[in-house]
Amino acid sequence: MSRMELDRDANIRQAQPDFTWQSVERMPYKEEGAAPFHAISRQVLFCGPELECELRYFEMAPKGYSTLERHEHAHAVMILRGAGHCLIGNRVYSVRQHDLIRIPGLTWHQFRATQDMPLGFLCMVNAERDKPQLPGAEELAEFSVDPAVAAFLRGAPLE
Ligand code: MN
Repeated sequence: MSRMELDRDANIRQAQPDFTWQSVERMPYKEEGAAPFHAISRQVLFCGPELECELRYFEMAPKGYSTLERHEHAHAVMILRGAGHCLIGNRVYSVRQHDLIRIPGLTWHQFRATQDMPLGFLCMVNAERDKPQLPGAEELAEFSVDPAVAAFLRGAPLE
């Protein structure tokens, strides 16, 4: 392989059908049993010593959801596919393709796909980041005081 071809291989990874990319492994979202989640995959698109951030693509199948968590690091998200809802702090938002979502540090957050559509999003994070915290029973009870948040956490169909 010529030098130019090597460079090209390292620098360009073509999009493939179905929201995957050449030479990018589609991995489990997290280690099974580490935290609650459902029907979600992870692809790391950009990551390396020359960057202080990483760009990942997460995709959940219909009815899939990410972990309800918080951490000191922030997330910058762009919805790339489908529609769903996200909880940020104590508010539930309806999100769809190309919406931008900012999740500040130490803010509870969770994403859920709709009942009939996948939800895929790009998520930028610091390369060095703290471990996510999970809510305790007391925090979960506090969330459930708001009917909209309670319905979201139950995975009830939302508008
Ligand atoms: Mn997170």
